[in-house]
Amino acid sequence: MTEMRTLKVALLGCGNVGAQVARILIEDADALAARTGARLELSGIAVRNVNSKRDVELPQELFTTDAETLVKDADLVIELMGGIEPARTLILSALTNGACVVTGNKALLAQDGPTLYEAADKAGVQLSFEAAVAGAIPILRPIRDSLSGDRITRVLGIVNGTTNFILDQMDSTGAQFADALAEAQRLGYAEADPTADVEGHDAAAKAAILATLSFHTRFALENVHCEGITSVTAADIAAAKDAGFVIKLLAIAEKLAVTDTETGGGEGVSVRVHPTLLPREHPLAAVRGAFNAVFIEAENAGELMFYGQGAGGTPTASAVLGDLVSAARRLVLGGPQRTETTTGHVPALPIDASVTSYYIGLDVADQPGVLARIAQLFAGNGVSIETMRQTIHRDAESNVESAELRIVTHRASEAALAATVEAVKGLDVINSVTSVLRVEGV
Ligand code: NAP
Repeated sequence: MTEMRTLKVALLGCGNVGAQVARILIEDADALAARTGARLELSGIAVRNVNSKRDVELPQELFTTDAETLVKDADLVIELMGGIEPARTLILSALTNGACVVTGNKALLAQDGPTLYEAADKAGVQLSFEAAVAGAIPILRPIRDSLSGDRITRVLGIVNGTTNFILDQMDSTGAQFADALAEAQRLGYAEADPTADVEGHDAAAKAAILATLSFHTRFALENVHCEGITSVTAADIAAAKDAGFVIKLLAIAEKLAVTDTETGGGEGVSVRVHPTLLPREHPLAAVRGAFNAVFIEAENAGELMFYGQGAGGTPTASAVLGDLVSAARRLVLGGPQRTETTTGHVPALPIDASVTSYYIGLDVADQPGVLARIAQLFAGNGVSIETMRQTIHRDAESNVESAELRIVTHRASEAALAATVEAVKGLDVINSVTSVLRVEGV
């Protein structure tokens, strides 16, 4: 019997995810070897402080602060340090040395993905990052492998558990944003500094990765339009609920036809993150708490949804190990490593060109002819109204009546909608525009 080959695995980082990856590599060594066709030997773990207490007991002699030396001697490198540097330099060094790299570092991929993808291409080695989007959920491999014979048209993702928890709290308890955030922090779902989550930056990084794989074109963070959830109010949530919607922070990547007078048109990809109204019966509306889900529409497959835990040490470690076994198998079998295809060449569209439905809340004077004037103004700006609901309020003190209008439009461009809202604001019968939110899934 021929002896099984041993592949050296360098682990960079031993925090929430890294510690669980190390544990599984040691505890499940035999099973992983059987699935891989090679023994995966944890050759060392690079950290900042070798004496820190870890979540799991690991052999002390594995720890080092010399990540560079560890990387030089590895067949496979797992980067779970996070941040831009030194992660970027270490990954580039590993790829150049011919090692396959597995990472969960969405911030780095969104900021400098193209440099890393190119380095992997050039060296003919694999760069895998399933853990970077939606934690444990297998979503990147289905997009690039299982759906590689299809054409993806749209991806809608709840890819940030913190914001989903906050919005779900607001929806189920009527809480204001600040109170729901405080509850998320108390339960450990939100960090002390929640900026990256609540401002949508984390979701935007994942949107760039989803768009890159779905449309075979490299999209960077600067291509993603990003709005967070800090301005979503309890009143927005209540009005949405009343109208049969739920508000979710969605990462959206979709292919759209573009009309360009110079080129005669073509296709572009709109990549964006923003609070979005979804009909309560939409599959993504059922994603509660800190869970994640990605909903894909493809020309032949139709609609698909992937659901699960989007974070956490052990769930995320599952995705990392999956990538590791896959890369190791390829090393065992030989031949070229798989790299991303970038044959799409579809341009990123500015937010003005994105097309969606909208929900608009208006506080208007209760006068005859107001509805007709508003409807006319929408039509004049090329935005067609799907539904319009009116509720009358009487001010107890002044006894003056006003009407609350809730309008849902058909799909229209962002530019047309913005022009419509500006025009509506100029009408003398409008007291205020109470909310403008995008709607998907209608
Ligand atoms: P973490 O708990 O903060 O752990 C980071 C680890 O990296 C620590 O062990 C730290 O060493 C080490 N480290 C940081 N900077 C270093 C440096 N300059 N040199 C050497 N070691 C360094 O992070 P995490 O939550 O496990 O996340 C790791 C990565 O996975 C991040 O990119 C994150 O975005 C991604 N990810 C995390 C989750 C999740 O649920 N946590 C989900 C998906 C993706 P010390 O321990 O000595 O400080």
